[in-house]
Amino acid sequence: MKFGTKAIHAGVEPDSATGAIMTPIYQTSTYVQEEVGKHKGYAYSRTQNPTRHALEKSIAALENAEFGACFGSGLAAIDCLMKMLNPGDEVISTSDLYGGTFRLFKTIFEKYGIVFHFVEMKNAAAVAELVNDKTKIIWVETPTNPMMSIIDIEEMANVAKQSNALLCVDNTFATPYLQQPLDLGADVVMHSATKYLGGHSDVVMGALVTNNEEVAKEMYRIQNSSGAITGPMDAFLVLRGIKTLHLRMDRHCDNGEKVARFLDAHPKVNKVYWPGFESHPNHDVAKKQMRGFGGMISFSLVGNQLEDALQTVSKVKLFALAESLGGVESLIGHPVTMTHGAIPKEEREKIGVVDSLIRLSVGVEDAHDLIDDLKQALD
Ligand SMILES: *Cc1c(COP(=O)(O)O)cnc(C)c1O
Repeated sequence: MKFGTKAIHAGVEPDSATGAIMTPIYQTSTYVQEEVGKHKGYAYSRTQNPTRHALEKSIAALENAEFGACFGSGLAAIDCLMKMLNPGDEVISTSDLYGGTFRLFKTIFEKYGIVFHFVEMKNAAAVAELVNDKTKIIWVETPTNPMMSIIDIEEMANVAKQSNALLCVDNTFATPYLQQPLDLGADVVMHSATKYLGGHSDVVMGALVTNNEEVAKEMYRIQNSSGAITGPMDAFLVLRGIKTLHLRMDRHCDNGEKVARFLDAHPKVNKVYWPGFESHPNHDVAKKQMRGFGGMISFSLVGNQLEDALQTVSKVKLFALAESLGGVESLIGHPVTMTHGAIPKEEREKIGVVDSLIRLSVGVEDAHDLIDDLKQALD
């Protein structure tokens, strides 16, 4: 089955009780058993729920995975993965990382004796150098947030294969429509389904998928034991969102390109970060591993003044000033005051998060209106 067909059909079947074409919201905590130990596959909704089950099958299918599990948030999904480790185990992570993931690693799991290394992953040799027999996970985010750097997944898979480490990819920005890390050699894919998979800014959810049976067993054991599951209503919303994922992503990519090219030509804009530009340092890798370049764009302003950036984000009318991304509506954010404020100025400037940096999540509106909005705000 091709992607668009999977997005609509994978994991979902007409309801066996009524024939309902949409998977019902099974808002129930428990299931009546015919006799002791005899049930229809569902015993208690922390362990499994039919609405969640359909979604887990759907997300797994989209990533060409056999096993999938959904969680109460993207961070809860990463939390599950980290709980597979033991004290003394090491994780090598990309340094240009979603802030919440960094906080989870540093302030929760470091305390339990997990060792984290944060490195620039554009250079595979630098990663290989850090690998030792305690390395259990290589954590990759690509494209990265907010600098839109691209990491070569195949190259990282080779590094992981030379040790007994699992390559785990946060595929939130690209979605399985644009990038399928398991096919490139990754072992586990993680999603914040809050973003493009849900796609309508109405739910917070996370997911893990894998083809590794051992990892899957642990994933389901921890999901059930720690209990950070997602509810049936939210599962329904993401199932519905996924049905238009391919259509939305095509439009996000088209609009992203138009907005990126407009910004690039604007005299008040200094630099535009978007992997679709041939001048992007890893454009070739992006072209190799992604179907399109997405709707996430960052840009800095000429003169690099904080005031100018704050003015721009407050003058837009259509773009909404908000954290998050991946919804149908366009959002604008200022990393320095919103998401990256906790990182010391020197540290954040090293990765490119300067005072005037602005991040866009380009939605699926008419590109013409989005460009007009940015134009009046910049002028
Ligand atoms: C939002 C996000 C997360 C965290 O997901 P939540 O659903 O907010 O917990 C992780 N990684 C990336 C790249 C994200 O954008």
